[in-house]
Amino acid sequence: MNTTYQNSVKRVIIAGGGTAGWMTAAALSKLIGKSLDITLVESDQIATIGVGEATIPPIRTFHRLLGIDERDFMRATQATFKLGIQFENWRTANDVYIHSFGVTGRECWAGEFHHFWLKAQQLGIAEAFGDYCFELKAAQQQKFGFNEQNPINFAYHLDAIGYAKFLRVFAEKHGVKRVEGKIDKVSVDQATGFISSLSLDKGKTLTADLFIDCTGFRGLLIEQALHSGYEDWSHYMLCDSAVAMQTSPTEAPLPYTRSIAHDSGWRWQIPLQNRVGNGMVYSSSHLSKEQAEQRLRENVTGEPLNQPNHIRFRPGKRKQPWKKNCIAIGLSSGFIEPLESTSIHLIMTSIVRLMRLFPFDGVTQSATDEYNRKLGCEMDCILDFITMHYKVTQRDDSEFWRYCKQMDVPDSLAHKLQLFEDTGRVFLDEFDIFRVDSWTQVMLGQGLVPKQFHRIVDEMDQAELSRFMATIKNDVDKRLTSLPSHTEFLSHYLKQQ
Ligand SMILES: Cc1cc2nc3c(=O)[nH]c(=O)nc-3n(C[C@H](O)[C@H](O)[C@H](O)COP(=O)(O)OP(=O)(O)OC[C@H]3O[C@@H](n4cnc5c(N)ncnc54)[C@H](O)[C@@H]3O)c2cc1C
Repeated sequence: MNTTYQNSVKRVIIAGGGTAGWMTAAALSKLIGKSLDITLVESDQIATIGVGEATIPPIRTFHRLLGIDERDFMRATQATFKLGIQFENWRTANDVYIHSFGVTGRECWAGEFHHFWLKAQQLGIAEAFGDYCFELKAAQQQKFGFNEQNPINFAYHLDAIGYAKFLRVFAEKHGVKRVEGKIDKVSVDQATGFISSLSLDKGKTLTADLFIDCTGFRGLLIEQALHSGYEDWSHYMLCDSAVAMQTSPTEAPLPYTRSIAHDSGWRWQIPLQNRVGNGMVYSSSHLSKEQAEQRLRENVTGEPLNQPNHIRFRPGKRKQPWKKNCIAIGLSSGFIEPLESTSIHLIMTSIVRLMRLFPFDGVTQSATDEYNRKLGCEMDCILDFITMHYKVTQRDDSEFWRYCKQMDVPDSLAHKLQLFEDTGRVFLDEFDIFRVDSWTQVMLGQGLVPKQFHRIVDEMDQAELSRFMATIKNDVDKRLTSLPSHTEFLSHYLKQQ
């Protein structure tokens, strides 16, 4: 079967200049740009979504791949360091835990650290689970710092508009041509089903071999022109709306994101150097737009710096994010919800996957299928992880939480939760971006306590277990004493060349 649809790919058009568009432009131009002619088209008439300011650690790998200087990037985007997310009021209406980017304790060949902790806790010789994690304790104490001897795992909070601007300069330096104009029409070749050109409002027509749809939720190319289809996940994810607002800072920036649950969703607080990003994420069936905005205004500290930005979204994934000669990257490929800051990460993995499968010699169905399969699996795993936060809760104080507690979840998640509850074992999927430490921190944080632990722990007698636990905790405490405050480190770090 001949499955190659067209000749070689030389000309690439990226439609849309938000975070997704400029990340794609930056990476393609820097890494495979010598073989390509890349144009990005964006419209000043259509604003970018303007949110998306919390990240997870692999963004640093992406920056290293591109050779981006960390200080330049942080200055341009008013970035702060992020050590994790503090979840408030998720398990009950009055509790706190942190999902940090760190490793908790030390694992042995047969079992992860939480098995040792579970037994130690039964014996009354354990401190809080988080006390055995350096990054988590640093976050709690608002400390931060690193050097070669003392590494730390972190990500950033960043200004989304500043990030796109920064990447634009980078991409243009590497040869990307930018065209300003509103795409009015997407022409599809009737014989092949391939996109042939984009017509702009200013009368210009752009042709290319490959089109990357970064037009956000509208999916102008992938959906409106190619009807790729959407798998709706709103039965797992009740939140379908958000309202965001920036405020002036009233305290030193925290080295973590705050996620504060409320009776119909949750609220975020993302500290940057010069301002705080705030937002209410909510279910429109349980809270009106006006109520959400009012609650946001009541809860922010600091002066509002802009008008509230109301956003509607539909949780789910694009059925075929790559179809014909069009690949959707960013919100056009689907959106779960912002709880664990996974969207910018998905942009990055999509770009890397596209580069690995890049159709230099023509689009093939096999490469298309492979791309779609992997992105689909990755999104399914993220869906499991995020759904867990809603499902595993003791909250039943509102209709919203009662639904979440009772709802059916994907079989894959039901299995992971049951396995942990029955045995303390954590199941990891090949495509799961969250590792054991993330699963245990959130499952325990949400109140899911296993009935058993791995009996390998019994190989240690109580004194030995007690020493083992104490050594790890002392090690964490020792590392923390020499750590400066986040603010101190940030200002010192950014002053250096
Ligand atoms: C409430 C909320 C909070 C979020 N928080 C996070 C977070 O903390 N962390 C995270 O990783 N992600 C987060 N996300 C997701 C994140 O915002 C996006 O992944 C990211 O901003 C990428 O968006 P985008 O570039 O795909 O789309 P957009 O920012 O919407 O950009 C679309 C681009 O397409 C252009 N365009 C559209 N139509 C046309 C046309 N007809 N002609 C020409 N140009 C056009 C626009 O001008 C714009 O440049 C959040 C999302 C939401 C909804």
